[in-house]
Amino acid sequence: MSEKIYDVIIIGGGPAGLAAALYSGRARMDTLLIEKLTEGGQIVTTDELENYPGSIEHDTGPKLVERMVAQAAKFGTVTVKEKVTEVSLEGDIKVVTTANNVYKSKTIIIATGANPRPIGCPGEKRLTGLGVSYCATCDGAFFEDLDIYVVGGGDSAVEEALFLTRFGRKVTIIHRRDELRAAKYLQEKALNHEKIEFIWNATVAEIKGGDMVESMIIEDTQTGEKREIVANEEDGTFGIFVFVGLVPNSDLFAGVIDMEGGYIVTNDNMETNVKGVFAAGDIRVKTLRQVVTAAADGAIAAIMADRYISGH
Ligand code: NAP
Repeated sequence: MSEKIYDVIIIGGGPAGLAAALYSGRARMDTLLIEKLTEGGQIVTTDELENYPGSIEHDTGPKLVERMVAQAAKFGTVTVKEKVTEVSLEGDIKVVTTANNVYKSKTIIIATGANPRPIGCPGEKRLTGLGVSYCATCDGAFFEDLDIYVVGGGDSAVEEALFLTRFGRKVTIIHRRDELRAAKYLQEKALNHEKIEFIWNATVAEIKGGDMVESMIIEDTQTGEKREIVANEEDGTFGIFVFVGLVPNSDLFAGVIDMEGGYIVTNDNMETNVKGVFAAGDIRVKTLRQVVTAAADGAIAAIMADRYISGH
């Protein structure tokens, strides 16, 4: 175990974690950012970033993240790509264990975000990567001139359905109600798009196929009636993109940090119920999950961590 004690360890390198790293670096705190994959979180799967202030040209999630990473590094943040396996948060010195190392810190900022929620129907898991996807920018191009189905009715579903019109012959949104949850601006774009169709009041009950998706059973949420959508004979397959919400990455903190429905409870200063432990971004209980609110949370968490350490 290294004897070094960081001022702040940030767990998670999405916009919340990267903004926290920027602010803690600028406060001259000794900062370690631990990210299990590559930086960026969910935003790296977004092609168009229309609602981040200042993003007026065609700005993508990966481009924004690249700038955020460079900016955090410029102010001294050290980043390691490791998966956190255990945390001990209650003492004055917090301990974060990864597969290869044990790190110590005076404060912790939890910015672990959330992952796409699966539908949970038979066939979904086995056919993931074989026609079922949770990332339009990653997999959209595989469905050039094929039929594409998007499951869900929130911002992600509608935004990604619009993006997928670049590839698909037709994009059909399957939503469990008859009204979308997505922002009105996105709704208008989708409802008026010549390549987008809707199947209302329906859920996906089963996905079938051998080496690729060949059909799916959808169920009418009002009548319970089921019907099978089969791939066009010439195509042999179609794409199913799933955007039915998020699952918070909070298992590590269960039993120690107060949560509601798996999301971490904080006050306006991003403080959790444990002294010296802060949370920022999508992992928090909050009403608006956006890059701009994640970045703001990260900034506040870092400043409050600095005040916690300096005692004012
Ligand atoms: P979301 O807002 O929670 O929407 C999930 C959608 O999936 C809802 O329409 C929901 O239906 C539906 N759904 C949930 N469980 C389902 C199931 N088992 N089967 C079928 N449908 C199901 O999730 P999201 O769209 O992933 O967005 C997550 C957060 O990120 C939100 O806060 C969102 O605003 C934000 N976000 C923002 C942007 C942006 O600003 N550009 C882009 C993407 C995401 P109901 O409507 O009936 O509940």
